[in-house]
Amino acid sequence: MFNIAIDGTTSSGKSTLSGQLSKRLGFKRLDTGAIYRGVACNFKRRNLGVVNENSIAQLLQHLEIEIKFKDDIQHVIVNGVDETDNLRTEEISMLTSIISPYQKVREKVLNLQRDFAQKNDCVMEGRDITTVVLPNADVKFYVTATPEERAKRRYLQYKDLPSAPTFEEVLADLKLRDERDEHRQYGKLAVAKDAVVIDTTGKTLGEVTDICENIVRKIQKGK
Ligand code: C5P
Repeated sequence: MFNIAIDGTTSSGKSTLSGQLSKRLGFKRLDTGAIYRGVACNFKRRNLGVVNENSIAQLLQHLEIEIKFKDDIQHVIVNGVDETDNLRTEEISMLTSIISPYQKVREKVLNLQRDFAQKNDCVMEGRDITTVVLPNADVKFYVTATPEERAKRRYLQYKDLPSAPTFEEVLADLKLRDERDEHRQYGKLAVAKDAVVIDTTGKTLGEVTDICENIVRKIQKGK
């Protein structure tokens, strides 16, 4: 199987890039952030309270995660509940970044991710895909942009919602999540030695996708 691993900071454009790149190549795409978000939704749904070793142990006692694709859209089903529509709120973003550092949570998600890569030519995106999950991926990208640019993108997604956060709030949340993702003990966000770093600041999605597609096609030819 041909595996493309993409890691990057929050709102760096890596999800959109993964979507476009997988379409152009005819590959499957796995958004691993959505899996961690689904786990956070389940934590909230079960009212497990404050996140600590105890509540995480309770969470893991019964945690079945399934990934299904309907019309090319990735659905995350946790303990039988399809959480796909609940994944992308600020509350779940924050809760996810608190739950995802727990090693046991990461181990649970790890097998699912590796299994997917073994069965599919795929583009897999997340935080530790290039370093931990698929260290032998055929191509690795690290995608980022300045915090201000990333906060602007996220702010524009939210701004018409009734309880939209201010730009300053979005920027502060994003920096806090970066800090957590980069400094945790397990599965931290880092640039793999052999990853190609893509800075998306000031670039259009088309430009970024073209750059990555060219790199992938060159490597495919050499195989
Ligand atoms: O990529 P996305 O913003 O949807 O990820 C949500 C959160 O899930 C991240 O802030 C991070 O804490 C966690 N995550 C992770 N490992 C991954 C993907 C996401 O810990 N491979």
